[in-house]
Formats: sequence, C-alpha cells, structure tokens
Amino acid sequence: MRIAVIGAGLAGLNAARILSEYCDVDVYESKTVGGLAGSVCSGRYCIEVFYHHFFRNDLYLIGLLKDLNLRNRVVWRVVKVGQEYRGKIYSLSTPSEILFYPGMGFTDKLRLALFTLNAKKMNYREFDEISVIDGLKKDVGENVLNRFFMPLLRSKFGENYRDVSYAWLLARVSLRGNRKLRGEELGYLRGGFQQLVDALSEDLTIINEGARITRSGGWEVNGRRYDVVVYTAPIPELGDLAAGLGIKPVKFQSSICLLMGMKEEFHSSLYWINYESEPFGATIEHTNFMNPDDYGEHLMYVASYTTPDRVFEKGDEDIFRRWTGILSRYGMNREKIKWWRVFRAKYSGPVYEKGYMKKITPYRVRNDFYIAGMTSMTNYPERSMNGSLLAGKEVAETLIEDHLS
Ligand SMILES: Cc1cc2nc3c(=O)[nH]c(=O)nc-3n(C[C@H](O)[C@H](O)[C@H](O)COP(=O)(O)OP(=O)(O)OC[C@H]3O[C@@H](n4cnc5c(N)ncnc54)[C@H](O)[C@@H]3O)c2cc1C
Repeated sequence: MRIAVIGAGLAGLNAARILSEYCDVDVYESKTVGGLAGSVCSGRYCIEVFYHHFFRNDLYLIGLLKDLNLRNRVVWRVVKVGQEYRGKIYSLSTPSEILFYPGMGFTDKLRLALFTLNAKKMNYREFDEISVIDGLKKDVGENVLNRFFMPLLRSKFGENYRDVSYAWLLARVSLRGNRKLRGEELGYLRGGFQQLVDALSEDLTIINEGARITRSGGWEVNGRRYDVVVYTAPIPELGDLAAGLGIKPVKFQSSICLLMGMKEEFHSSLYWINYESEPFGATIEHTNFMNPDDYGEHLMYVASYTTPDRVFEKGDEDIFRRWTGILSRYGMNREKIKWWRVFRAKYSGPVYEKGYMKKITPYRVRNDFYIAGMTSMTNYPERSMNGSLLAGKEVAETLIEDHLS
C-alpha cells in the first residue's frame, strides 16, 4: 500500500513515522518541515519562529520526547506573567500581585476567583452556541470582562475574539489547572523543538513540493498514484476538494510574530506580557524562561493574531518600526536590538467560534482519505504540539486498523 501524507508539521510527521513501519509513505511539504513548530537556525542555536512551550498535562508529547531520547533536554520552570494596564506593566504571577493589581477592584477579583472555581464544574459542551462575550457578561459582569478577559481574548484571537464560543473559554479554564502559587509552570526542550522535528523526520521520505491532490479512479498527488491520502495541512488549503469530501469549512486565524535578538533584556523577569491597548497582543521574552547564556543574547517575540486577508497587509520593516517604537515607551532600548525578523502564518489555528465543536474533523473522511491536525478533537480547546502529535498517532492507528492489521 502507498500512502501520501500531506504536510510535514508535527501531525504529518508523527503519522508518517508510525505508518512507515507498515507501508510506503511519501510526505509532501510545501514550506518548512516542522510547520508552525519550525525553527530558524544560526551557527550557534536554533529558535522556533513562533514562541513554543508545553504544559505538565501534555502527556503524549512528554512520553514521545522520552521515546525519542530527548527527555534529558526537557526543562520545567515557573514563569512570570504580566499585564499592561494604562501604559504600565504589572506582574500578575502570584496571588498577592493579583490582589494589588489596580486594573480591577476587590469585588471583581473575588468574582474572577469564584468564576475560575465554578468554570471547572460546568459542562462546557452546553455553551458551544453562546459567545464568550455574552457568557462572561452574564457570569462575571462587564468590568471583569473588559479589564481581565478582553486583553487575553485579544492577545489570543486578535479581531476574531467576538466570534469565540463560551465553551472554548470554559474548556480552557478546566484544562489549565497547573498554576502554582509562584506562577505558571511551563516546559521547554533545551536546544529547541527543532530536535523533536529532526527526530520525527529521520528516515522519512519528504518531498518538498506543495501537494496538488486529484482524483481519477484513485488518488493522485502531483501526478503520483496513492492508495490512501492522509491530509494534515490546514482545512482551508484543501480548496474545492473539502466540499466534495463533505468537510465543513473552518475559520482560521493568522499570526504575525516579530522575533528579535537583543544585547539586553526588555523586562527584568516577566516571560509573557499581555497588552490591552497596543496593536500587538503580547510580548514573550524567551530568555526570561531559558537562560540567555544558551544563546549569547536575549530573545523576545512580539505577537499578534489577525485574519488571513490582513496577514500580509503591512511590510516587515513597517511592523518592526511601529512595534519597537511602542515598546520603547515601555523601556525598550532600540539601539540594543542586534537583529530582527518577522514571521507570518496565514493559517495558524482555528477560530473556536460559536458552533465550532460540530466542525471538528473526524480522522476517517472516507476509507481512502484521512485527516488529522489542528481541527482534530485532540486540539480542542487549544491547538498545541501535543494535540497535533496525538492526532498524528490516532489517525495512523485508525488507518492501520482499517487497512493494515
Ligand atoms: C504563534 C504560535 C504560537 C504557538 N505556541 C505554541 C505553544 O507554546 N505550545 C504548543 O504546544 N503549541 C503552540 N503552537 C501550536 C503548534 O505550533 C501547532 O498546534 C502545531 O505545530 C500544528 O501542527 P500541525 O501539523 O497540525 O499543523 P502545521 O504545523 O500547520 O503543519 C501543516 C503543514 O502542512 C504544510 N502544507 C500546507 N499546505 C500544503 C500543501 N498543499 N502541500 C504540502 N504541504 C502543505 C504547511 O506548510 C505545514 O508545514 C503555536 C502556534 C503558533 C502559530
């Protein structure tokens, strides 16, 4: 049996790795092996083009790192997070910092704490048709919505935040139960996730071509015949084929990330800062998580989410000048920037809009066409490395059971 896997992101690589034990597999990749989890490498180090970390409950990823002999590279650290409020940055990592945060009154903070406790008990599936704005207005009130949730929603979804379902937020609150009193504990692979991509890619046949999938009797990809196609690229890239296969359209958002190498730190301690009044949603200072000595410089991302029609609207230079101009008001010394690059992804994740749960794609679309990736169940309520790797494994197992066992 010959299988074509479309996309060499984490889902495609993991599916291909498992399937290639049973039959011939070709992987097609139009851009970068590793997909959204890809990296840029200099002589000294590799760094992800988009910020990446993982959580204690990403159990499949953690197990896989062990199987691939990468466990000794895993680092766990409690990181500090912050929030910009009226042009000033506040650390919001510990209960006492939250207590003294001026952006919300005491009653609102209490409402927020109660909401967090209650959300874990609510059945999020019942709230898929309700917008996050309506749900939060009812459960925490306008103040907490505007002061606390709005910046988070904006930093996560850009202009798309109004479409997001309340189910997504409730599911997410339940998922992220690993907060410690000192802050949030995150994992990283010292040396970068490129090591994971390399380990998964070993021994695979990867064809660096954009796949054109056609059907004449059986499946053809760029004129080569296959018995089965496993599609792991974003659903909108499927084009007309999606409707023909009965796949529901999924709205995606886009990402723009400015990555900078700097001679000095931007903030003294915060890893992640959300901004409520700026054109970008967050700064993520990688070297406030990992030691800058590993890199010989400080590394920081400035991140923004937008829509596929606007992702290429502004030029790289424009973005760099505007965003760093704003950051200089928060204390960044632009003279200390050694280098910078802007990275963009047109399809960087689904918008978990109202009714999204009905659109989650099944692994088996027909018995010769399978799908796994960011719209699989394993990536709800949050698309992640863990979710895509697991989707790759589960689609491979489904296919093996259908055809190869
Ligand atoms: C800004 C940002 C930050 C993130 N941070 C984190 C994080 O901290 N932790 C975490 O766990 N996850 C994070 N993620 C999510 C994580 O990167 C993704 O969920 C995961 O990498 C998706 O893998 P995938 O294989 O499903 O999809 P993709 O990575 O999108 O892979 C699909 C591949 O298909 C290729 N392709 C598309 N069309 C074609 C075609 N016609 N022919 C051939 N190939 C094609 C694409 O080039 C791509 O390589 C982040 C993502 C972004 C964008």
